[in-house]
Amino acid sequence: MIKPKTEEEIALLRENALIVSKTLGEVGKAVAPGVTTAELCKLADTCIRDHGAIPSFLGFEGFPAAICASVNDVVVHGFPSDYVLQEGDIVTTDIGTLYKGYNGDSAYTFPVGEVDAKTQKLLDVTKASLYKGIEAAVAGARVGDIGYAVQSYVESFGFSVVRELEGHGIGREMHENPGVPNYGRRGHGPRLMDGMVICIEPMVNAGGRGVYLDKNQWAVHTADRSNSAHFELTVVVRKGHAEQLSTFDFIEKDGKIKF
Ligand code: MG
Ligand code: MG
Repeated sequence: MIKPKTEEEIALLRENALIVSKTLGEVGKAVAPGVTTAELCKLADTCIRDHGAIPSFLGFEGFPAAICASVNDVVVHGFPSDYVLQEGDIVTTDIGTLYKGYNGDSAYTFPVGEVDAKTQKLLDVTKASLYKGIEAAVAGARVGDIGYAVQSYVESFGFSVVRELEGHGIGREMHENPGVPNYGRRGHGPRLMDGMVICIEPMVNAGGRGVYLDKNQWAVHTADRSNSAHFELTVVVRKGHAEQLSTFDFIEKDGKIKF
């Protein structure tokens, strides 16, 4: 049984989403050739704590860092490290907060300097597929409608959707029901209700959809070593149109990154 959130709960989730969004914005300003992913993590950790929140990923099921930093062929759950970002890389930062007993969770794949045309297309298509998913997240629809919207859009460009990982409800727990796969069939899955809060997060590979788990038991890599992108936002299911709680405006408004 999936219960919609009360407006009071949604207000707290909105506060978390704002902190995550601002933190992604700060990380975006720092992404550049020569920067390490550990430096991005430190910056994010500081930003989250400056807002009175806790980085919820740190220690989550044993995860060792405040954020996930996934470079190039790493789909998700990369450990921040001394790896120095290179011109042409892409880096996904996935960021979570715990604040006033509720959670925030959003992710963005940044280009490092100039990336090649196919990689730029991968970023554009993955982000656009997230907005397609959000358009489908209306009261009365079903979870499969979101997955269908994401998958059909992504595959029309010849890219592929990772199926081993999915979006999720969010509230007092970072991961709540329902699971929100990035593939699916229209009219299938749990019904979406006004006030449900979910994270939609397409993970899209430039090559095939296959993935494997790193020997560190966390990082997920593409099987064919192609690049992978991941964009995530938190939304409230509403009648007519979902309400976005998190936003990429703090990243994109400063004109640094244009799509
Ligand atoms: Mg996330
Ligand atoms: Mg998530």
